[in-house]
Amino acid sequence: APALALQGVARTYGRGETAVAVLRGVDLAVAGGEIVALVAPSGAGKSTLLQIAGLLDSADAGVVSVGGRAATGDAERTALRREAIGFVYQFHHLLPEFTALENVMLPQFAAGVPRRDAEARARALLEAVGLTPRAGHRPAELSGGEQQRVAVARALANRPRLILADEPTGNLDPETAARVFEVMTQAVRSEGAGALVATHNPDLAARMDRTVTLREGRVVAG
Ligand code: ADP
Ligand code: ADP
Repeated sequence: APALALQGVARTYGRGETAVAVLRGVDLAVAGGEIVALVAPSGAGKSTLLQIAGLLDSADAGVVSVGGRAATGDAERTALRREAIGFVYQFHHLLPEFTALENVMLPQFAAGVPRRDAEARARALLEAVGLTPRAGHRPAELSGGEQQRVAVARALANRPRLILADEPTGNLDPETAARVFEVMTQAVRSEGAGALVATHNPDLAARMDRTVTLREGRVVAG
């Protein structure tokens, strides 16, 4: 099953004369191991699409499936959000009072993983993103690029089928952005997850497997 499948997804904000139909029938599939760039002008609906794919917002119509599981019903949506989807944001939202290692362990506790297993997994992921020497540091003691690599490790902690990233390197200088992106794509691919990455950065988009855009509320090849 694809990491993400959207079929006929529609979303309108507001009602009546002021209604704005942002998504008007989005069809999109992201395969496991595939990294897809979502590049579109501001206001085109990228955030709306990511929120719906991430089950943080509901579509008015259409079907969202993650790893072959259709997101129907509150219980299934919550389970999918916890177990099957990892999020990477422009600003990492790491918890400041916890170390890098603990930040990668915490989502696993929410999923019921025992402490020893969570720690082993977190150490392996920090190794994969090149941060073993920083495992015991708090976010404030890490550079911006390092913080974002911790965020990537955290997003992968529960072995998600799908990674959703919104401008994941938007606040980094170009060199650091390229390095974080490289680490992120390697980690995502080696985990067999699929990724949908919204970005304004054409250099990063060019390094992904393919680019899609939003045109008149539909996803088309970019
Ligand atoms: P992008 O991420 O591509 O900039 P968004 O998904 O944020 O686009 O927004 C798409 C359109 O939907 C914009 O016109 C925006 O103003 C509108 N919009 C987004 N969120 C809301 C909301 N909660 N209520 C009303 N309009 C919204
Ligand atoms: P980068 O070039 O990757 O952004 P920096 O030049 O900001 O890195 O930082 C270099 C090194 O110094 C990093 O390994 C980081 O962990 C460490 N460092 C940065 N800020 C702090 C801090 N406030 N306290 C402790 N170590 C820090």
